[in-house]
Amino acid sequence: MVRAIVGANWGDEGKGKITDMLGKESDIIVRFQGGSNAGHTIINQYGKFALHLLPSGVFYNHTTSIIGNGVALNIPYLVKELKSLTDGGVPVPKLLVSDRAQIMMPYHILFDQYEEERLGGKSFGSTKSGIAPFYSDKYAKIGFQVSELFEDEVLKEKTERVCEMKNILLEHMYHKPLLVPEELLHTLHEYRDMVAPYVCDTSAFLHDAIKAGKNILLEGQLGALKDPDFGIYPMVTSSSTLAAYGAVGAGIPPYEIKDIIVVVKAYSSAVGAGEFVSEIFGDEADELRRRGGDGGEFGATTGRPRRMGWFDAVATRYGCRMQGATEVALTVLDVLGYLKELPVCVGYEIDGKVTKDFPVTAKLRKAKPVYEVLPGWQTEIRGIKRYEELPENCRRYIEFIEKEIEVPITLVSNGPGRDEIIRRTEG
Ligand code: GDP
Repeated sequence: MVRAIVGANWGDEGKGKITDMLGKESDIIVRFQGGSNAGHTIINQYGKFALHLLPSGVFYNHTTSIIGNGVALNIPYLVKELKSLTDGGVPVPKLLVSDRAQIMMPYHILFDQYEEERLGGKSFGSTKSGIAPFYSDKYAKIGFQVSELFEDEVLKEKTERVCEMKNILLEHMYHKPLLVPEELLHTLHEYRDMVAPYVCDTSAFLHDAIKAGKNILLEGQLGALKDPDFGIYPMVTSSSTLAAYGAVGAGIPPYEIKDIIVVVKAYSSAVGAGEFVSEIFGDEADELRRRGGDGGEFGATTGRPRRMGWFDAVATRYGCRMQGATEVALTVLDVLGYLKELPVCVGYEIDGKVTKDFPVTAKLRKAKPVYEVLPGWQTEIRGIKRYEELPENCRRYIEFIEKEIEVPITLVSNGPGRDEIIRRTEG
């Protein structure tokens, strides 16, 4: 059975924790898009880890972790991350890397930085991990596939050709040091040796696994609102964040994805620029940021303070719809226990009209939040194991959200730890 775990919002919904938790019942966990530009925070018996590139299944002995063809593969980063695990006492994970994944080149990272510099105040707030230049090159057909690392002649010729092109931009547009093809080739030979032990046809591996009835998890990064087609374009990421893309980025048939668990955060947070209708500011935002997540809402990759806001039912219902949610995991609910009242954004007012439909970016810019205010529960809910034991106002909040987003909330996360989860069997 194939399941996907994806985000409904702007990312950082707590997908890592849910994947780590469901990893227990999985044989294989696959990353299918994105790169090392966003982080998952996972807390388990080995300690606290921030994973950026490895799938969240790496902590289990019985799972195979796969980096699918859709991922932007930063090879030295992968090696570094593997080392951080083994240094932390985690057993060496079983890892497979798709021979069709493309390689994050050192110049992608440089171009990302140079372009942000060039744009100055108008920048995208990129994590500068090279993601946009990487996917641009992939679709411009000048990317490097992992398989090409093992073809000496092809590699040499392509390295020279690409350097020639990149150097025109470096010289005339960015006024930065030029690429030296021999040096780049040398780096690529190092990459080849680093990645060689893991490379295989992961799509064929998954085909066999599906036939053998294995449990497979597709782990998404970021959220629906960062999708290049359906998100807040252009303040989006450069690969699709939707479960549907899991089929492409892992190389499996779309109809095999039977369950789509969409992770939804009990309040809103976002990193980087872009429209954010229910955003809050000042002391109110500072307090939520300080109390949020596990030790505050700061980006796992960049350490930047996250932008904060109230729960946005308009954006989340849309996010769930675009993901094709079959069920929802509602996370970080415990954080809200300090509030007397909880505003929920239930509509957008655009040009004097209220809508519940999430619009295109130009209209989104004009949207003002319409709130419905729910009473808070003002108590600690960590440690509670059964849904019925949650305070009444807390259940009321969950059920209100469930009605608004039109998808059953089956999991409620009330703490960052692996076991801090309430499975809801009724309601
Ligand atoms: P991801 O990218 O979607 O995996 O999200 P992150 O891991 O970047 O952000 C989620 C943060 O919230 C992490 O610091 C988690 O440890 C933390 N977290 C996840 N679930 C819960 C929860 O239910 N309660 C609290 N307090 N923190 C949580």
